[in-house]
Amino acid sequence: MNKEKKAVVIGSGFGGLALAIRLQTNGYQTTLLEKRDKPGGRAYVYEDDGFVFDGGPTVITDPSALEELFTQAGRSLSDYVELLPVDPMYRLCWEDGDVFDYTNDQAALERQIAARSSDDVAGYRRFLEFSKSVFQEGYIKLGAVPFLDFRSMIRVAPQLVKLQAYRSVYSVVSRYIRDDHLRQAFSFHPLLVGGNPFRTSSIYALIHALEREWGVWFARGGTGALINGLVRLFEDLGGTVRLNAEVDAITVRNNRATAVRTVDGWSAEVDAVASNADVVHTYKHLMRDSVRGPAQAKKLEKHSFSMSLFVIYFGLKKVHPNLQHHMVLFGPRYRELIKDIFDGPDLPDDFSLYLHAPTITDPSLAPEGCSAYYVLSPVPHLGNADIDWDEVGPKYADRILDYLEERYIPGLREDLVTMRLLTPFGFRDELNAHLGSAFSVEPVLTQSAWFRPHNRDDSIANLYLVGAGTHPGAGIPGVVGSAKATAALMLSDAGLSREAG
Ligand SMILES: Cc1cc2nc3c(=O)[nH]c(=O)nc-3n(C[C@H](O)[C@H](O)[C@H](O)COP(=O)(O)OP(=O)(O)OC[C@H]3O[C@@H](n4cnc5c(N)ncnc54)[C@H](O)[C@@H]3O)c2cc1C
Repeated sequence: MNKEKKAVVIGSGFGGLALAIRLQTNGYQTTLLEKRDKPGGRAYVYEDDGFVFDGGPTVITDPSALEELFTQAGRSLSDYVELLPVDPMYRLCWEDGDVFDYTNDQAALERQIAARSSDDVAGYRRFLEFSKSVFQEGYIKLGAVPFLDFRSMIRVAPQLVKLQAYRSVYSVVSRYIRDDHLRQAFSFHPLLVGGNPFRTSSIYALIHALEREWGVWFARGGTGALINGLVRLFEDLGGTVRLNAEVDAITVRNNRATAVRTVDGWSAEVDAVASNADVVHTYKHLMRDSVRGPAQAKKLEKHSFSMSLFVIYFGLKKVHPNLQHHMVLFGPRYRELIKDIFDGPDLPDDFSLYLHAPTITDPSLAPEGCSAYYVLSPVPHLGNADIDWDEVGPKYADRILDYLEERYIPGLREDLVTMRLLTPFGFRDELNAHLGSAFSVEPVLTQSAWFRPHNRDDSIANLYLVGAGTHPGAGIPGVVGSAKATAALMLSDAGLSREAG
């Protein structure tokens, strides 16, 4: 195998790691540079007082995309990490006491739908068929195909029209389902990847079929154990990870990226560079000395960006076996709240929350007799609401914890052992995320596929992007798909792959 060619991947999020593994497997000598002291990016792990908190992604869907990273390297995922099934996939709760267990069991789903609205059972079946057809077209066929030129977009236009990609997820769900809570239950998913259900393309309705196809999983030891498994695979293949290695600049000469330099003075000459860092940060900061950088950054800054998140990680000296692993706690408003979250200009008074209770599946994440959680509230990004989170954060946390204690976790305050916050400032400062966005470029049709920042830069032929800001977009399946698309391009461009196109 030719190990002469050298690649650098900037950032060790799921996308960066997945790309580095594919490059290292196929003949690129690959170095992964990560700014922080641990790998994972949004999937960073906090360890406080014996509690282990996954910082971000916890709902693992499409395990086959992860398995493929190992099999393409001649290994097996199960030798590195164990995935545990989670059922129900989510428990959805409303303030009027309504509860819906979103499971992968058709009969159980239909029973619950019928209990709320018997007319909606047939509508749900039709919605599932729709979701499956978008899943085939949008995920199976196009999820890992790079859209580099406008022709590639024109080629898929007929399918997009047929699938009514111009409609929103909520509008499609509402065509099939009439009950208000059920409409919320089958339309909230785009929020998990930074999309507004009222303006994200109906293509994102594929998430329902994707979850029904493979279920929802959780890594034993937490998502951090999955990240560690990917790092171990990469290192077993001979790749190098450098932590605490914040990249300061990508050197560009004659329209080629020639070297990468870190803040602490380390540098390397490269044959190719892929950035898993935020797309605006990549062009605006890392490429500030090139002609291309500032111009492309200006263009990207005109895009709309996903909302941010406010997250409270907390540990309790008690267990609550009545909770489920993944819970969505709907507040009093849906459409109006989502509008406020996506458009600002202020922090709304009410909230809808996602509660993560991982010790339901894996008690080892907390000390004996204790339980670990995080609760997140989607909030406007810093470009839409100029909030001083250092001041507002602790008060907002109090309101959320009071709400949880009153409705879902009695005695929460009394049992609180540890707590930490992640605010939009953390996304901005720790992850270099433009406007503190939690999911990068907003997934709307006019910013998808060819309209999204491309997997390979348009003018610097050996500069590539991978991760949430490029095609297909955020979420673990999205960024792992982006790594497949970017790897195929890089390997093909370097003459290292026969199958890549
Ligand atoms: C709280 C939260 C919950 C989520 N829940 C889910 C979920 O349950 N399921 C799901 O599928 N998705 C979920 N997501 C979305 C998912 O986590 C992300 O879309 C995905 O992990 C992003 O991966 P990425 O490859 O884009 O890289 P990122 O995770 O964004 O990592 C980028 C990396 O680049 C590094 N970096 C930045 N600048 C530099 C620099 N100059 N030099 C070196 N390194 C740099 C950063 O430190 C970071 O490690 C969640 C996201 C959040 C925030």
